[in-house]
Amino acid sequence: MKICLDPGHGGRDPGAIGPAGTKEAVINLAIAQKTARILRSAGIDTVLSRESDVEFGPNEMTDLRKRVETINATGADYVISIHADASTSPSANGCSFYTLPGQGLGDILATGIHDRVKESFPSLAIRTDYSDGDPDKEANYYVLRWTTASALLIECAFISNPQEEAMLNTTAFQENMALAIAKGIGDTIGKPVSPGSNQDAWAKEKQAIIEWGLLHGLINPKSDGDYEHAIVSLTILYRYHTKFKAVK
Ligand SMILES: [Zn+2]
Repeated sequence: MKICLDPGHGGRDPGAIGPAGTKEAVINLAIAQKTARILRSAGIDTVLSRESDVEFGPNEMTDLRKRVETINATGADYVISIHADASTSPSANGCSFYTLPGQGLGDILATGIHDRVKESFPSLAIRTDYSDGDPDKEANYYVLRWTTASALLIECAFISNPQEEAMLNTTAFQENMALAIAKGIGDTIGKPVSPGSNQDAWAKEKQAIIEWGLLHGLINPKSDGDYEHAIVSLTILYRYHTKFKAVK
């Protein structure tokens, strides 16, 4: 059983660019590399379509064709293409999963990863479409259509949304997303990725706190830097909020 992770875009093609200048290709690669590390440490054979910020071909069409050739040459059973979403509306937010129309192994994988992302990100909106009985949306994306492996494309969050762009840039978000993707893959192929193996409890709570603070506008990605000076007050607010919510 082999997994291929495909960080979208790269090199000449930066993908979508966030309002603060974050390149989608760089975020996609960071999440894919972290996912690969977790999968490999769980003994799951994993390859990446690209290991650095490079393109596959000189223009969009040859780039996609060469990308698919590269993925197919790995002989992987599953391919997970990792992206960040973009919209002209800065408030568009959340995470989406795409598979080809119809039902296949990609849909089972999508459901597995969806469940783990939902569990790991209580504040992140998940953009689902249950009309065909599972949470993924359907699309004829080139990478889904032409790869021989069962394929899934994840849009982790909206890089065009200032709060989510800031969140995508944090190591904590990238690691938590990587862990959720890896666990979902492990669930699907019957090779458990041990929970929390990559994060201690505080790192996990801190990630949730930063995510919550960003989504509620309590910290500012432009002026608060790495949020270290805000984390103590934010932690108290977050714990009060979650406790209050639990009582209510
Ligand atoms: Zn993309």
